[in-house]
Amino acid sequence: MSLANGRTYLAIPGPSVVPDAVLRAMHRASPNIYEGELPDMMPGLTRDLKRVARTDGHVAIYISNGHGAWEAALANTVAPGETVLVLSTGHFALGWSRVAEARGIEVDLLDFGNGGPIDLDRVAERLKADAGHRYKAVMAVHVDTSSSNRNDFAPLRALLDDLGHPALLMADCIAAMGCDRFEMDAWGVDVTVTGSQKGLMCPPGLGFVFFNDRAADARKALERVSSYWDWTQRAAPEAFYQYFGGTAPTHHIYGLRTALDMIHDEGLDAIWARHATLARAIWTACAHWGQDGPLRLNVADPARRSHAVTALAIGKPLGRDLRRWCSDQAGVTLGIGLGMGNEDDPKGDGYFRFGHMGHVNTHMILGLMGSVEAGLGALKIPHRPGGVTEAAKVISGASSGV
Ligand SMILES: *Cc1c(COP(=O)(O)O)cnc(C)c1O
Repeated sequence: MSLANGRTYLAIPGPSVVPDAVLRAMHRASPNIYEGELPDMMPGLTRDLKRVARTDGHVAIYISNGHGAWEAALANTVAPGETVLVLSTGHFALGWSRVAEARGIEVDLLDFGNGGPIDLDRVAERLKADAGHRYKAVMAVHVDTSSSNRNDFAPLRALLDDLGHPALLMADCIAAMGCDRFEMDAWGVDVTVTGSQKGLMCPPGLGFVFFNDRAADARKALERVSSYWDWTQRAAPEAFYQYFGGTAPTHHIYGLRTALDMIHDEGLDAIWARHATLARAIWTACAHWGQDGPLRLNVADPARRSHAVTALAIGKPLGRDLRRWCSDQAGVTLGIGLGMGNEDDPKGDGYFRFGHMGHVNTHMILGLMGSVEAGLGALKIPHRPGGVTEAAKVISGASSGV
């Protein structure tokens, strides 16, 4: 017998849950790409996208996933042979740095391990040592989806400004745009990349690169940019859909239009607050279970945790077993322990993650916590019972939780 039959919940950190309204918006006959509704939608779409990133700059839209957006950001700002400084707090910063290396860019890596935080003193040391300003960009990840560590960008901007260092500040905001607070302009970020399939609640397939005028100047100074990734035309809504870089991503645009309407109807501040409360409910349940068992939140300091994804350690092979139980008996799929493997646990079977980004609410998160508590019981994994009750207290306002 399986208890999993019913509506499933893909509780992994991307792709995320796609709202029915977004799916319905995409379910239509192919639209005319030359004139009419689709091209007419583009100026409003770019305006509303920029509101999500909190920027008055530009946005280039690609038919790609996040990896494409990574490539695009570098292709328009840093030439092969030039140098960047990468600040790593997990798997994804390392991934972005490999994209840079493959483009012939020299990477100077400061690795803060799986869970951070970024040590500003060490960053300052590196920047001071770069008196000749070899670094064209400082690259960091807002929320590292593997470790669930969240980094602040305003202190990095302050550091660059204090030292008079001209490097561009570039943010990978793929995991948590539209979930965790992110303010591109106020925080002094020059280039921000994201994708459609996490906080933006669409299927994978659109990559976005937001950039300001400083970054646009860096693009102009490059001798050549590969034509597909050149952001000049892709950031021009009137050109994007038709003339440049091939056919427009027709149905994704309709889905994104609906997702942006949902985001701005709710309001970004309300969305950030919803994610914060749901995340606290999750942390509180996990901390409670962990008092009498092996479960641990990967990021110890709540102030450094993302509100969109939570990485957990439980010991090999219990992470894998719990994931299996939840998908077989609860209809909920947990995330794997990405990038967390080590010598004793090469596959990361001792780790798992919750994705709680985008279209998620109380009943989904309490259902997720209830499913995990049932799985801990079924698998006889030691834990203190009652984590779900503690999570419910956070939701009801009876407790502020972790
Ligand atoms: C998901 C993710 C990526 C990769 O995005 P893809 O669409 O899978 O290429 C990169 N960085 C972060 C922080 C992510 O969460």
